[in-house]
Amino acid sequence: MPELPEVEHLARGLETRILGAAIGDVRCHFAASLEPDPRCFIDAVRGRTFEKLHRHGKYLFFLLDRNGALALHLRMTGQLLLVPETQAADKHTHVELLLAGRDTKLVFRDVRKFGRLRLLDGSPEQFIREKKLGDDALKIYARRLQRLLGKTSRTIKAALLDQRVIAGLGNIYTDEILFREAISPLRRAASLDPEQVASLRRTIRAVLQAAIRRNGTTISDYVDDQGHSGSYQGSLLVYSRTGLPCKRCGTPIVRIQVAGRSTHVCPVCQAS
Ligand SMILES: [Zn+2]
Repeated sequence: MPELPEVEHLARGLETRILGAAIGDVRCHFAASLEPDPRCFIDAVRGRTFEKLHRHGKYLFFLLDRNGALALHLRMTGQLLLVPETQAADKHTHVELLLAGRDTKLVFRDVRKFGRLRLLDGSPEQFIREKKLGDDALKIYARRLQRLLGKTSRTIKAALLDQRVIAGLGNIYTDEILFREAISPLRRAASLDPEQVASLRRTIRAVLQAAIRRNGTTISDYVDDQGHSGSYQGSLLVYSRTGLPCKRCGTPIVRIQVAGRSTHVCPVCQAS
C-alpha cells in the first residue's frame, strides 16, 4: 500500500531524527523480515552509523558508514517507527534496532508480514540495477516515459504499475493520475501521443508532490515514523469512491478490474 509519497514522507522525517545515530543491539522476532537472514544482518549492522537516506520508487535505502547499506520495502502494511527504547514490542513488531547512546529505537512493524529489511551486498544503485527498477516517478523524463510506454502492448494502468517502467506508483496514485488526465485505465499505453505523455508526466509529479505535502495517504495502516497518519485521502477523486458521484460530472464512480487490480474510474470522464 505505501507508495512513493508515503515512503518519501517517512524518509524526510527519519532523516532529521536518525542520521548520525549508531545501531546498537538488534532484536528480531520474525526471521523472514531480515534478509539475507537475521544472523548475517545483525552481525553486519551492529555498531554502524546511519549516514544518509535515499529513496528510489517505493524503496528506502539507509546508507551506513563503511559503505554499508540497507533497503527497506514496506509492501502492504509495513511501518517503521521511532519509539522510546522502553516501549514493549507488540505482536506485530518484527525487528527492533536500538540506537546506541539514545533512548529511542527504530521498530519495524508489519501486520501482513510481507515487508522486508535487506542488507545489501553492494550499493543501492547496484540493487536498483539488479531489480531492473525504472526511473523514480518524480524524476523520470517525458521522453523516456514515452519510449517505455510506446513499446508495451499492455494497458496504461498495467504499465504505470510496473516498477520496471516507472518506480513508485501503486494502485491509489495510478487511479488518481489517470482520472486527472481523463485517460481510461484500459487504454493501450502505446496509444498515447507525445503530448499526452508529457501531460501525464506533469500530472504524475503534481499528484505525488501534493500527496507528499499532505504526508501521504492513509487508507488502512500507513503511518510515518512518529505514528502519524497521512491526510491526502481527503483529496482523492476516484480511489475508494466507488458509487459516489464523480467530482467533475456527477456520474457514479465504478470499480473495475484492470491488470488484476481494483481500479476506480469515472465511466464518462475516462471513457477512452
Ligand atoms: Zn466524471
